[in-house]
Amino acid sequence: MSGLSTSLLFGIAAALANVLGGLIVVGRRSPWEPRLLHGFIAVGAGFMLAAALLRMGPEAMRLSSQGPLLVLVGYLVVHLFEHTIASHFHFGEETHSHVFIGSSVWASALAGLVVHSLFDGISIASGFLVSPTLGILVFTAIILHKMPEGFTIASVMVAAGVSRIGALGAALGVGLASVVGVLAASVLAGHVGAALALSTGVTLYVAASDLIPEVNKEEGTLMAVLVFAGVAFFYLTEGALSTLGL
Ligand SMILES: [Zn+2]
Ligand SMILES: [Zn+2]
Repeated sequence: MSGLSTSLLFGIAAALANVLGGLIVVGRRSPWEPRLLHGFIAVGAGFMLAAALLRMGPEAMRLSSQGPLLVLVGYLVVHLFEHTIASHFHFGEETHSHVFIGSSVWASALAGLVVHSLFDGISIASGFLVSPTLGILVFTAIILHKMPEGFTIASVMVAAGVSRIGALGAALGVGLASVVGVLAASVLAGHVGAALALSTGVTLYVAASDLIPEVNKEEGTLMAVLVFAGVAFFYLTEGALSTLGL
């Protein structure tokens, strides 16, 4: 299987997790799902932090002389699209309907998440361009937050009064952005160091500035502990991959 088809398969899996998160919003029956999603957010935050700081960042520094600057640019790009152009966006369930009714805030939130998701795809593909191990580690980091991501955007659309089909369509659109990101990174394969550095900054933002604040909203210590479990899960995955000879 070629590198591109491997990346595409993983990109499509990430997109499907977005759609699954959207389905939870539009087909919701039981109240346990938001807590389960918070669990994914917490484990995902720990895993993403470890992947960005221990594997993606160092590899990007090795491959690109502009690594540190591009990490900063990646971080700021997400801040620009998710929290500067979009006036109201946060991970998790959107319950602030008053912000969305009669305004176009939902469109800027959707655009912000589409840009973020594009970079999720670029991250996965640049990981696989470097090595299968890095690809699998980055994919695992990304997939852990994809279901909450689809849930987030679908709940934004529901809060904005959009139909259920529209909410699901938004989750699908966010997912497709990751597939486009995989294709874009594969086309720009000659610049994998730069793409990986940008992806490192994006991953740091998503972990530390999107996900951790959601973890900290939860009462009690369970969610906080799950962040450490996410870091442990990173080390376990890395160990398992090396045992497998990857
Ligand atoms: Zn809100
Ligand atoms: Zn994402």
